Order: sequence, then C-alpha cells, then structure tokens
Amino acid sequence: MELTFAGAAGEVTGSCHLLRVSGRTIALDCGMFQGRRAEAALKNRELPLPVDELDAVVLSHAHIDHAGRIPFLVRSGFAKTVWATPATRDLSAYMLADSAHIQVKDAEFLARHGKQAIQPLYEMRDVTRTMSEMIGVPYGKAFTVIPGVEATFVDAGHILGSASVILDCVEGSLTRRIVFSGDIGRGGLPIIRDPQPPSNADVVIMESTYGNRDHAPIEDARGRLGEIVRETAARGGRILIPSFAVGRTQELLYDLHALVRAGAIPHIPIFVDSPLAIDATSVFQLHPDAFDHTEEMVQQVRELFRFDLVHFTRDVSESKALNSTQGPMVIIAASGMAESGRILHHLAHGASDPRNTILIVGFQAEHTLGRRIVERQPVIKVFGDEMPLRAQVEVLNGYSAHADRRELAQWIGRVRATSSSLKQVYLVHGEPDAQSAFSEILRADGFSVTVPARGDRANI
Ligand SMILES: [Zn+2]
Ligand SMILES: [Zn+2]
Repeated sequence: MELTFAGAAGEVTGSCHLLRVSGRTIALDCGMFQGRRAEAALKNRELPLPVDELDAVVLSHAHIDHAGRIPFLVRSGFAKTVWATPATRDLSAYMLADSAHIQVKDAEFLARHGKQAIQPLYEMRDVTRTMSEMIGVPYGKAFTVIPGVEATFVDAGHILGSASVILDCVEGSLTRRIVFSGDIGRGGLPIIRDPQPPSNADVVIMESTYGNRDHAPIEDARGRLGEIVRETAARGGRILIPSFAVGRTQELLYDLHALVRAGAIPHIPIFVDSPLAIDATSVFQLHPDAFDHTEEMVQQVRELFRFDLVHFTRDVSESKALNSTQGPMVIIAASGMAESGRILHHLAHGASDPRNTILIVGFQAEHTLGRRIVERQPVIKVFGDEMPLRAQVEVLNGYSAHADRRELAQWIGRVRATSSSLKQVYLVHGEPDAQSAFSEILRADGFSVTVPARGDRANI
C-alpha cells in the first residue's frame, strides 16, 4: 500500500492524497490550489495522476480547497464514483457551480481587457456531470470504495457534512486502518456537532492549519457579538460582516437568532446579501440530521435561520437598495476576506462612517482587503478608490471552523488512546510554521511524525 501526497502538503490548499491498494488508486479529496494567482493556476492544471489510473474519489467536505478540482478530473475523462456525505454532496452542487461561474467570468474579464487569455478549469456542464457521479453516504455506514478498501465517514465537526474518513484496507495478508482527518472543527461550534476522533488507526493523515495558534474561547463569541450589535445600533450605525457563504453565515444567523430570543439585541433588520449563502442556507435546512441535537435551540426551534428580522436579498437591485435604507442594520455578505462579492459595495458605502462597525469573523490572508481592515489601516482601497477607514473594526476569532493547537492535540490524543498500533502521523494542510511547531509538540509527546512535501510517497 502506498500514499502519495499530491496537494495540501506544506500548504493549506489543494487538498489531495492518493491511496494505492492492490494496484488501484483512490483520491482523498481533489481540491483547488489558491493563493498567488499564476502559481496556483499552474498547479491547478496539473492532474494528480492520469485519470485512467484513478478508480474513485472520497471527498471529506465541500470547501473548494478540498472539492474544487473534481470537475476538472471529470472534464479530463474521469467517470467513476465520488463518495461524500449527503450534506457534502448537496453543498458541493452549489459551491462547484459557483466556482465554475467565477472561473468563466474571470476568463471573460481577462479576455475583454486584452490580458492573456486563460481557459476556465471547468464549466457548468462539467459540474453537472460531477454531481451525477457523486454518491452520498451517511456518517457511520461502511461502503466499499474499491475491492480491498472499505470506508466510513465520521463527523469532523468543521462545516455541515464534513467528515474524517476511516479507510480499512486489505492487500494480501496486510491490513491497515488509515484515517484521513479532513479539516477538523472546534468543539462547541453552533449547529454542527463536535469532531469525532476515529479509533484503531494504524496511519493518520492529519490537518495542521492552526498547529501554532490558539483561538479565543468559543463561548465568548456570541456574547461579544451581542455587545457589538447593541453598541453599533445605539450609534445608529450598520454592522457590516464579510463572511464565507457556507458555514460562517449560518453560524452567525444562528447566534443572532439566539440573541434575539434572549432579548439581548435590539430588533434591527439582518440582511443576508449573498445568493450562495441563501442557497447554502437551504442545504442546511435539508439536513437537520447533521445538526448538533444537544443544543437547546436545535431541539426547540424549527426554523433556525429564518426568523422575522432576517431578509435574504438575492437580486442585485435589492442589494443596492440597502445603500439608501436608513437606520441600524446587520449586513452579512461574501466574500469572507472582502476580496470580491457584494460586501465590497457595502464597504464602499459604509467604511468611512464612524457610526458603522466592520466585524471580522474569519481568517484574513495577507494582501487581502480584509487583512488591511484588521490592521486598521487609515486609508483602504475599494474598487480602486482610496477612502478613509473610519468605521469601528472588531475581530471575533472564536468562530473559526478549524481546531486550534490545543484542540488538534486533543483530537490526535483521543485517536491514539483507542489505537494500539498507531505507527505514523502525516501532517498535511498547514503552512510550514504551523507544521513545524505542531510536529514538535507531537514528537515531544511520543508520536512518530512526518511532514510530507508535495509529490512525496510513503509505503504503509
Ligand atoms: Zn475546510
Ligand atoms: Zn481545508
């Protein structure tokens, strides 16, 4: 048996690991590389292996850095099964369509502006074919991926439908249980369940995004959100929240709903201004089985995301009309790092008004507008125009969908506690700093750890 680390090796994007058993190959994820444009574009066009050698894909969750290149495999001739949980399948349908749409628009934009022509990696018809090959399997139900490999999804607690994958492999007299962590979430996140560490692992492929960082406690996030809404509303301002459409938006709605029910925030309108977020919210409503049923609001409230203060604006005209609407309000819009999407219009309109608050709830990468806002730079550029940043800026990092250093160590600690023959941990999905810090922690704790580079292979 052999593993090849084809992506998210020494970096956080492009998740893809190849597992070869008895001459057949499974891809664990096939995600998009993101980051510096030219470099990512080259890596995205390189297939992890010739598609006729690929026998199946097992997808951990719907984020584009995990699922985003599957339609490219399909476009290149792959016509076999993609396995995922039912919620991941439904979220992927929207996210991959959105990705195809963005790529087609980008290509058109570059062509119009006389820049070097680029071809989209794939288009809508490739996404449609991908979705027809994707099969949803619930958590805890074993399925045969290829002869000699049985897989089971367990909850990774990261986003709706997210899974860690248990792979029970047999090759001749050799048996191995390989665990692929996927992205590991935080305990106590709203709506979704806590991560469920698998047991009896021989080999673990584990993410390490925040291997060198601890987040603020999750319990503080909702209370602080309430304070920010109260203070801003008292000033007559708007709360502008750049947010990922899938996951973060629904968590914010859920917490705002809880705050409204508790009478902790005033009755001001809440606008979800993102078509993808609206679609993703309907997918959430289709999968209440994947919610955390230990949470009181999940038990008591049927409509978690649609309550009387919430307005979903799908049309551009409705979105524009918000600019001339008076009074305090909450606006949640993509993109999460304020690099594109409707949040830019709201920032252009509201970032220089000191009554407003820009609320940052997610990781902001270097060189993004979101990062410049977090750094509270006095002047920011929106749509190419400079403007003073006079709105209040607040940062809530408790909503991170990723386990922090302590929670990652807990997760692998719990895997080891139930595994008598754990041989090796391969750390993936992390920047070099995070990976070296976390591998030191694990080695000091007696784990045998490898940090593979892209293209590395391992016999297991
Ligand atoms: Zn993820
Ligand atoms: Zn990821």
